[in-house]
Amino acid sequence: MSELQTNAFWMPFTPNRAFKSAPRIVERAEGIYLTEKGGRQIIDATAGLWCSNAGHGRTEIADAIYKQAKTLDYSSIFNFGHELGFEYAERLIQHTPDGLNHVFFGNSGSEAVETALKIALQYQRARGKGTRTMFIGREKGYHGVNFGGISVGGIAPNYQSFGQPVKANHLRHTLDIKRNAFSRGLPQHGVELAEDLERLVNFHGADQIAAVIVEPFAGAGGVVLPPKGYLQRLRAICDKHDLLLIFDEVISGWGRTGSAFGAIEFGVTPDMITSAKGITNATVPLSAVFVQEEIHNTIMDAAAEGMVEFFHGYTYSAHPVACAAGMATLDIYEREGLLTRASGDIAKYWEDALHSLEDGHNVIDVRNYGLVGAIELRAPEKLSGKFGAKVSGMAWEAGVMTRGIGDALCMSPPLVIEKHEIDAIVDKLRSVLSTLS
Ligand code: PMP
Repeated sequence: MSELQTNAFWMPFTPNRAFKSAPRIVERAEGIYLTEKGGRQIIDATAGLWCSNAGHGRTEIADAIYKQAKTLDYSSIFNFGHELGFEYAERLIQHTPDGLNHVFFGNSGSEAVETALKIALQYQRARGKGTRTMFIGREKGYHGVNFGGISVGGIAPNYQSFGQPVKANHLRHTLDIKRNAFSRGLPQHGVELAEDLERLVNFHGADQIAAVIVEPFAGAGGVVLPPKGYLQRLRAICDKHDLLLIFDEVISGWGRTGSAFGAIEFGVTPDMITSAKGITNATVPLSAVFVQEEIHNTIMDAAAEGMVEFFHGYTYSAHPVACAAGMATLDIYEREGLLTRASGDIAKYWEDALHSLEDGHNVIDVRNYGLVGAIELRAPEKLSGKFGAKVSGMAWEAGVMTRGIGDALCMSPPLVIEKHEIDAIVDKLRSVLSTLS
């Protein structure tokens, strides 16, 4: 067999040269297992990249994709539709919080974010508040890699080389290990951090701000959970100053927290929700923005007769194959009760298992909610901020895929995970941790 050529593919978010010297290639995936080239099995404790919520290799979704590609592989988007797009949108909104009943489709989380930001701007303009053009994000927030997303995002490498082309400022993040170490579920301390929004409103003026965008819990920032009452307080401050609140639920959506959306789980209704990843169980690209009735209607009503109400869209918005994959994914989520599985017995088991890794030395925090969690490590000084990646590499060698973020190992296993599989993850991690000095 000829050797794999690794030059042409410029890989995303990857130190390409290091990868080429030791390529890590996965060949197959089934259930919660990945199979490496050569046959070694690895437990996927991150559901891919927080996205294969129903586990890998779901034949039902693959069959739906194949069938749709043979029946209607594509139709245009200009004044054009296909029934499946409408049926799928109606079905999706059965799962969204009350009032978020319009769906705009894109292909990726990044596109969903750009779409939501543009809807916010157009809404403000449509209701005569066109000075409201800036956004408030949050430190450690991740909202994709497009220009709006990197501007509102709060993870330095994502914007440092590119600037912040969209006007944005950032709330302080809510990770406070000193006060909240080894919390189970939502942290007790930190609700007052929501008051930081008042500071930013005072600084910029409410009449300059279109929307606040946060993840209910920050995923790529290192599994940063909202302190108790924090999201409620943000909502209240947004209402006081007439700001839109957008929840980026690209990770927290589709059952990760124990409800279909973090908004439902945490009892706070935003004005828009962005969604991707688990929406198709990550089989094919698809994203959506769920939009509240009044925003949608204001934009529709403001457009002059004969105008396109919202001049925005993608060649592949509501792509028929993606809609078919999404429908089949919903069939599985609904039939197998996956959207609420992470609120039950398995979440408690996950919590206890992760917390059993507390060792009084290498582990300085464990945090968890639903079926997501992080183990924060004590990093040697010269590896501070990079230790997670190093230990995640060791975990891979030991047979478990985690995500190293800063000094943490982050995990979000497929929602179908069983208790003995959680045991296997934790056993492997325990043996990795025992080798750290
Ligand atoms: N928003 C959030 C909260 C995310 O976690 C991600 C991806 N990790 C994105 C947006 C971007 O999604 P994509 O990579 O599909 O563009």
